[in-house]
Amino acid sequence: MIVVQKYGGSSVADTDRIIKVAERITAAKRAGNDVVVVVSAMGKSTDRLTQQALEIAAVPPARELDMLLTAGERISMALLAMAIGEEGFTARSFTGSQAGIITDAAHGKARIIDITPGRITDALAEGHIVIVAGFQGVSRESKDITTLGRGGSDTTAVALAGALDADLCEIYTDVDGVYTADPRLAPKARRLEAVTHEEMLELAASGAKVLQVRAVEYARNHGVRLHVRSSFSHQDGTWVEKDGTMEQAIISGVAHDTSEGKLVVRGVPDKPGVAARIFTGLADANINVDMIVQNVSADGTTDVSFTVPVADGPRALALLEELRAEVGLGEIVFDDDIAKVSLVGAGMKTHPGVAATMFAALSAAGVNIEMISTSTIRVSVIVRREHVERAVQAVHDAFELDGEQTAVVR
Ligand code: ADP
Ligand code: ASP
Ligand code: MG
Repeated sequence: MIVVQKYGGSSVADTDRIIKVAERITAAKRAGNDVVVVVSAMGKSTDRLTQQALEIAAVPPARELDMLLTAGERISMALLAMAIGEEGFTARSFTGSQAGIITDAAHGKARIIDITPGRITDALAEGHIVIVAGFQGVSRESKDITTLGRGGSDTTAVALAGALDADLCEIYTDVDGVYTADPRLAPKARRLEAVTHEEMLELAASGAKVLQVRAVEYARNHGVRLHVRSSFSHQDGTWVEKDGTMEQAIISGVAHDTSEGKLVVRGVPDKPGVAARIFTGLADANINVDMIVQNVSADGTTDVSFTVPVADGPRALALLEELRAEVGLGEIVFDDDIAKVSLVGAGMKTHPGVAATMFAALSAAGVNIEMISTSTIRVSVIVRREHVERAVQAVHDAFELDGEQTAVVR
């Protein structure tokens, strides 16, 4: 049986942790499995490398930034291979490119378009443990090294599990599963035993960074079963699978996201084609727009507010400035002091009043709501960033999501 295991940064943060992880990997091999390991950069090294780049250039060239960041994963994969050697097994480490992870050319947020894992299957057939550097690939078009976006090692692992038809993909991290909220903000959050791909997709898309959203998308599309668990214990974690094994709860959790900013465009002409022009421009520039709100118009103009990743804020602003003359826009303001808080649950569809309860809880906690958006299984609000913790806890309390125990996070 083929098992794919992914170890996040804190799981391989120092030499001791790498040796501990090597022991866990060799145990899986000893149990008779073919083992493919996807590894992240050690600890916070991706943050450090990014910081170094920013000290040299305000806007580092995307190609070189990717080249730099992928070095982090190469360090951990080689050290891990050595540690496995010390355990008496042989390991072969591969960069994303060597592992056959083919992507498009979008540096910093590349998408996997194909996987040709010949070297992996050969190495497995020779009896080796395979280690693959997470979060990276190579562009078929430009032949350059690309990265899959922050948290992208999750996606490498799930995509490999799909391509290799693995029986299981284990995501080892610093928390022992998926909780009803980020346990760092809501210490009484409850661990979920199982969650469906759909619910996990909404949680991840709403900011629950325990899994990268693309990894969940891939898992759903290819039917990969995930087990999210701690590399610091042997406890079972959370199963992410097609049909939840548990009876479906109304609410699966509360997620928060502080990575977006809000753009407010005033004086937008209220006539057909204007919104299309603005949002086509943003889409062509590969800027992901999340929530959009258009106000009722007065005197032939309206206000449009929408959220974009903070990192894309300056580019979005520049683009709107260009459009100002063409379509006739008024004042444009960028506000990155916001947070998004989302309530997710498949049972919401059939239970009226969920949004009302959420808004009442926020109001009782003195949190003002600036924007609202909903889907069939999610309600999201934008609040001031300083209110994020209070908002998450208030909503979590209102839906009585607390567990019996305090969550363990490292
Ligand atoms: P790794 O480096 O292992 O990939 P990440 O930091 O990317 O780890 O993701 C794990 C973190 O995700 C946890 O430490 C936790 O703070 C955060 N998190 C956010 N939402 C949740 C949630 N609903 N359940 C569990 N962890 C969550
Ligand atoms: N090292 C990368 C990051 O910190 C990728 C990952 O850990 O998944 O985002
Ligand atoms: Mg991660």
